[in-house]
Amino acid sequence: MKNIPLHWKIILGMFLGIVFGLVFSQFDFGKNLITDYIKPFGTIFIKLLKLIAIPLILASLIKGISDIKDLSKLSKMGSRTIGIYLITTIVAVSVGLIVVNIFKPGNQISSDTRIELVNAYSSDANEKKEIAVEQSLKGPLQPLIDLVPENIFYATTENKNMLQIIFFSILFGMGLILIPEKDSFPVKKFIDSFNSVILKLIDLIMKTAPIGVFALLASLVVEAPSWNLFKALAFYSITLVCGLIFLIILYVVFTYVYVKKKPTEFIKGISPAQLLAFSTSSSAATLPVTIDCVEKKLGVKKEVSSFVLPIGATVNMDGTSLYQAVAAVFIAQAFGIDLTFSAQLGIILTATLASIGTAAVPSAGIVMLVIVLSQAGIPEAGLALIFAVDRPLDMCRTVVNVTGDAMVSMIVDKLIKK
Ligand code: ASP
Repeated sequence: MKNIPLHWKIILGMFLGIVFGLVFSQFDFGKNLITDYIKPFGTIFIKLLKLIAIPLILASLIKGISDIKDLSKLSKMGSRTIGIYLITTIVAVSVGLIVVNIFKPGNQISSDTRIELVNAYSSDANEKKEIAVEQSLKGPLQPLIDLVPENIFYATTENKNMLQIIFFSILFGMGLILIPEKDSFPVKKFIDSFNSVILKLIDLIMKTAPIGVFALLASLVVEAPSWNLFKALAFYSITLVCGLIFLIILYVVFTYVYVKKKPTEFIKGISPAQLLAFSTSSSAATLPVTIDCVEKKLGVKKEVSSFVLPIGATVNMDGTSLYQAVAAVFIAQAFGIDLTFSAQLGIILTATLASIGTAAVPSAGIVMLVIVLSQAGIPEAGLALIFAVDRPLDMCRTVVNVTGDAMVSMIVDKLIKK
């Protein structure tokens, strides 16, 4: 067992988790057994990953920026990173709109099934709607205001303040570049060794990943709702997954053409992060492993990866934006609403913004979907239609989110080298 590479152990853990969940969900006691005694290990694993997220961003981003030593290089890298992230997101939403208009999955839903789904999930959907309403009541520049922390210690007490921590780290890193080297040296030394400790901790936490994903998948299987409802949503799920796969193919082709990375090398290099993204449904929790893969296996320089990836994990969600486009049009189709071309263009804009605002945690995408729906005039009750399959699809879109970030880091690395 010792010599098996970690990603194989994770795959084995996932497989055994599903089998275990399927077998035990046949018995009444099995469900309780998994919920009470297996699921907690999955929860602990995710908590450990989240525990390390803020120290990692602080250490790796400050180190990454202060290593650049030159502010003009930093602004070059920053503007390119944000520019490329925007382009990939717009491409993703457009791919989503194309597949959902070709497959038209919403037309497959019968009115009986629609009523069944809306009734089954309306309370969950209402909860998400309330959260989204809170967000939309804020002014247009609120995200900008939220970006700036007023107290860094307070900001670090909540994982959802990731962007504020990124903001502070960039500012702090710039300060380090601007002061004389003899003054910055002790702080830099401290940050360097702090960073090494964090990376070691990630290594240790990842050793428990096979057990963590086993527990996560076993509990997911026993908590799954009735399979009948799943069948009704299969066509929607297939459409979405096709779009996501197409996006991954685009990434592979692009990295081959532009960065000259062979498709097999790219996929093999990023696969540990993809597996973890799939089982945790959180790009933030996956961030440590994404950074590791991109540096060690895809040859991206540390100064690039430690800058591009933490930002990407929070603002660049190609899978999520594609999902928001597909889900919005699917719900419109299911309710018999004909979306005009300009309404679909509006979806490109709101889905792009909504995906930027989506937190890198499970189910955040469906919260922000409410905003896309209300902007496009699609009934928000439609959320209930897609609730049943949202978790497995969240797992798939998170894989794409993480892969997209990795691709952009490779492109920025190449651009900077040039
Ligand atoms: N789970 C996704 C992520 O963390 C966000 C979402 O689409 O819900 O990347």
